[in-house]
Amino acid sequence: MDQGAQSSHQISGTIFGLRLFGVPVRFHFTFVLLVAALAAVGIQGPSGAEAAIYILALFASVLVHELGHALVSKRYGIKTIEIVMFPIGGVARLERNPKPREELWIALAGPAVNIVIAALLIATAASLNRTFDWEKGFSRGGGDMLSQVAIGNIILGVFNLLPAFPMDGGRVLRAMLAMKRGEAEATAIAARAGRFLAILMGLYGLVAGNFVLLFVAFFVYLGAVQETAAVMGRALTQGVPVSEAMITEFRTLSHGQTIRDAANLLLATTQQDFPVVLGEQVLGLLGRNGLLRAMAQDGPEAYISGAMQREFLSVSPLMDLSEAMPLLTRAGNVALVMDEDKLVGMLTGENLMEFLMLRRLGMGHRG
Ligand SMILES: [Zn+2]
Repeated sequence: MDQGAQSSHQISGTIFGLRLFGVPVRFHFTFVLLVAALAAVGIQGPSGAEAAIYILALFASVLVHELGHALVSKRYGIKTIEIVMFPIGGVARLERNPKPREELWIALAGPAVNIVIAALLIATAASLNRTFDWEKGFSRGGGDMLSQVAIGNIILGVFNLLPAFPMDGGRVLRAMLAMKRGEAEATAIAARAGRFLAILMGLYGLVAGNFVLLFVAFFVYLGAVQETAAVMGRALTQGVPVSEAMITEFRTLSHGQTIRDAANLLLATTQQDFPVVLGEQVLGLLGRNGLLRAMAQDGPEAYISGAMQREFLSVSPLMDLSEAMPLLTRAGNVALVMDEDKLVGMLTGENLMEFLMLRRLGMGHRG
């Protein structure tokens, strides 16, 4: 359905995943529930198997739509972190935000895939001497499966081109606006259009008793609100060095200390992640979850050096905060700020949030 690096939080609630063309695909648990429910209903109905195949074919089409976004992103050197499948569509999460021109083509690629699938299916139907039937395709009852799936794809493609942010059409609108105006203004306009269309869609869904549409409207509305927040976050952090937002007062653990010492420190402070040091040298990072796990597995007398993560995110104090933010998210919301080999601060999701709130009020700068 849409693509973007907007979601600064890892999407939770996914059950299992697979890889397609090197892109991780994960399924949200609501998606799995929906497929299971449809399968259960489908088995009972008279044309149950057919209905199940139809639904699966459409989900596969959505997946290929997302791969379309991912492949064009790749052409611009933007990696897709993952594709997450929700009941009403997929989301391709990109490693970085594309530039307006890139976003235009990445966004168009998805609906284009659906149109190509539809064309191929219609051509196949024609070669099998089957007539493509709009009416029967629409009234999902009789009708040919090929034309039904073709029409499903046309609807998917056209629907996604509605200029309602965060749908693909809204991204196209934003990309075109952003070439003339700033990104913030373009997003604000596209998001407003998205909210407006979402409300119209929701009202129509309510009046017509179409709850799928109501559900989609809600999703579009949320997306529009979230994306605006993400762009605000970027505007507030661009050009600000990490050193301005980092925590400078924090406690460290020495590598020879025990899990018990670490647990005491966890209780005595509000800190949840502790750098593990040997003199001036940083050896690793011990977070609350790792600490609790070690406490349960190895007991309180074990050394923390066995429980700490040796791989952790370190950023330079001079790094732009807007660049550090997505890295921080991927690293589980904690980073060590290192000036060469020297530990000078910490950056966490929580303190970054505080920093953003203060910046918004115009008081984010430290003396
Ligand atoms: Zn899309």
